[in-house]
Amino acid sequence: MPITGTDCLEWDSVRQTKLNSVEETLSGILAGYKNSASKALICDFDGTLAPIINNPAEAKIPEHAAKVLLALTKEIEIVAIASGRGLEFINNAFAPYTDGTGRNPIKIFGLYGSQTDEEEFKKLHKTSVMDQTLKELILQLIAPLVDKIDLELKDSGLVLHYRNYPDFEEEVLSAAQLVADTFPVLFVRGKKAVELTVAGHTDKGDVIDYIAGYADAVCYIGDDYGDIAAFDKVNTGTKGGLSVGVFSEEMPPELYDKCQFILEGTAAVHELLAELLGALSQSATDL
Ligand SMILES: [Mg+2]
Repeated sequence: MPITGTDCLEWDSVRQTKLNSVEETLSGILAGYKNSASKALICDFDGTLAPIINNPAEAKIPEHAAKVLLALTKEIEIVAIASGRGLEFINNAFAPYTDGTGRNPIKIFGLYGSQTDEEEFKKLHKTSVMDQTLKELILQLIAPLVDKIDLELKDSGLVLHYRNYPDFEEEVLSAAQLVADTFPVLFVRGKKAVELTVAGHTDKGDVIDYIAGYADAVCYIGDDYGDIAAFDKVNTGTKGGLSVGVFSEEMPPELYDKCQFILEGTAAVHELLAELLGALSQSATDL
């Protein structure tokens, strides 16, 4: 889709008025973590750790960022990923960097928390699986659209991606609304995508609630609609909440006011994590 003059103006004003430097964000997080008995760092995956690309199946976290995140598990009591992706995808993304036994000290919450190896979380939230018949009925309802866009099937539902077909945005949104009006499904927007998922699904707010039970300073970093529930919990439901948004031209405007800090792009997130590792390991040495 062509960039219009209005969009450019908006982005420029966001850049000038809302963005924070890595240093400012780091200071805020260190201040929040200071004196906390137990810290948590939770990151979204796509658009936060992994740059958004045209083919979502090929999204990757850069090696240096993955290694920093793993090293942070030695400094921060809970390091977690909360993603709309399936658990297997996120596990595979970190597989090259684990210790050879397949052990990953990062806690992974896939499908917005619905898929995880965290036994205590699973006791509280059931795995959301969309019935195959319901999936087929939805596909029948949106049949005219399916061949025009990229369709992703998940255990919990389906995702209509229109990143590569921007002219179909309106058609995708109205089809998703029709599905949500017809069947007991939730309609969750994403960047250039709409997810249709089973009603009663966990969200990232549930993940924050769970982790906040074990940590008294919780930092969440995210970039998209699916992160709003997490930011709401971090800002209001946790004791030491720190909310960091990741700006891009596609950042939902709703996020601006929910984030204490906004960084520009995934590279700034990677820089922040590296600086955070340096600062925390230094302060551990100083003790
Ligand atoms: Mg994201």
